[in-house]
Amino acid sequence: MNTREMQDKKNIALVAHDHKKKELVEWAVYNKQALKKHQLHATGTTGTLLGKALSQDVHCFLSGPLGGDQQIGAAIAEGKIDVLIFFWDPMEAQPHDPDIKALLRVAATWNIPVACDRSTADFLLTSPLMHSEYTALLPDYSAYTKRKLK
Ligand code: PGA
Repeated sequence: MNTREMQDKKNIALVAHDHKKKELVEWAVYNKQALKKHQLHATGTTGTLLGKALSQDVHCFLSGPLGGDQQIGAAIAEGKIDVLIFFWDPMEAQPHDPDIKALLRVAATWNIPVACDRSTADFLLTSPLMHSEYTALLPDYSAYTKRKLK
């Protein structure tokens, strides 16, 4: 069985669409003490807002529509992100809709915990597993990677 070890200090990626940024920043400020124990990553604009609001180092990728969602997806595939908090906007189409779908897909591919709304983010952040080491079981993709092509 393939596994991936998460440390007690997690790498958390945060993304919020424009109409959801206020909500994410409010949530993050409310949970400032808990978030301090982890390394934060974010898409460009979200990360800049979070860095200012939390006075905490936030590693910023590019802005989402400019490729930031894809960068976070790549970091997930490389095992560099443990948790994804993604407040996407269900009421508005985005110019980078395919990237959003791809990010959610890659998170499911690699068994990453994902919160897409504030309630789920609350449940996730208050889980005891956020503050302990955790062994995530990875799906077995060997039948796929070793498939014979004709
Ligand atoms: P942003 O990107 O934080 O740079 O605005 C978020 C998004 O993916 O829309």
